[in-house]
Amino acid sequence: MDTSWMVQGRCRELPPEVFFPSDGVGVEVARHYCAECPVKGQCLEYALENHIEHGVWGGASERERRRIARSRRGVPAHVSGALAVRPAAAPSATTRR
Ligand code: SF4
Repeated sequence: MDTSWMVQGRCRELPPEVFFPSDGVGVEVARHYCAECPVKGQCLEYALENHIEHGVWGGASERERRRIARSRRGVPAHVSGALAVRPAAAPSATTRR
């Protein structure tokens, strides 16, 4: 996997903890830096391909990357993990005899 794009990342000029925030305000700060990064696209794809769970990558938070990954798998964004594994419903009245 080509990682040569990493040397162009704006985050190289900042402390790593900026991109591993502990709250929503921190996520917005990181996203601000990512917004002007010339390798934003490569960074996001790297995080998605490597299933990186923590931090802001390519301007996307952990939650946003999970949503993108679900979308690419064909799972509608509004379907949560809990709902997706819910047991099948009981047979309807039309299938009962
Ligand atoms: S998009 Fe953000 S995290 Fe990725 S290389 Fe650029 S500044 Fe760093």
